[in-house]
Amino acid sequence: MSADIKELSSVDFLDNYREKKQKGPVKREFVLCEEMKFMAQEIISEEKIDVHPAKIEYVTIEPNISKSTAAKCVKTGKELKFFSNLDYVIEVSGELWTALDKETRRILLEHELRHILVLQNDKTGDWNFKLRKHDIQDFGRIVSKNGVDWIKKVRLCLSSLYDMTPAEEDNIQM
Ligand SMILES: [Zn+2]
Repeated sequence: MSADIKELSSVDFLDNYREKKQKGPVKREFVLCEEMKFMAQEIISEEKIDVHPAKIEYVTIEPNISKSTAAKCVKTGKELKFFSNLDYVIEVSGELWTALDKETRRILLEHELRHILVLQNDKTGDWNFKLRKHDIQDFGRIVSKNGVDWIKKVRLCLSSLYDMTPAEEDNIQM
């Protein structure tokens, strides 16, 4: 075997190794997002969304929550609440957030904020932090104001970022 061939095969080996590495589990990172926090404060006051007195923090997950998850509203459990004093964490897939236009970011964020449901106990006055569900893909108020085009935009954006099949596109969560 000549030296040239040996070199070539070790390069191939390295390329294969790198490819395998990339296909392995993705390391995900939480990044606090000031831009999202600021935008959320605007939305809460302009759209009069009732989240009081919930403490909310906003993060992007890099590169994504999962390829098929655009965003998520997470209610903190007892432990997370004890350590962070937060009631909710709104997570958005980072690569998607970067790729979306400002208008669509805003609607996606409003969608997540509307998952927040704060109830007060009549007798004790205690606050109860819950999640509101939507039976269609979106909340009625957002649909009547913005239509459903923004959902198509989010889908298209994720689909082009991650080369999705139509079946995977149908599975996108937010
Ligand atoms: Zn939702």
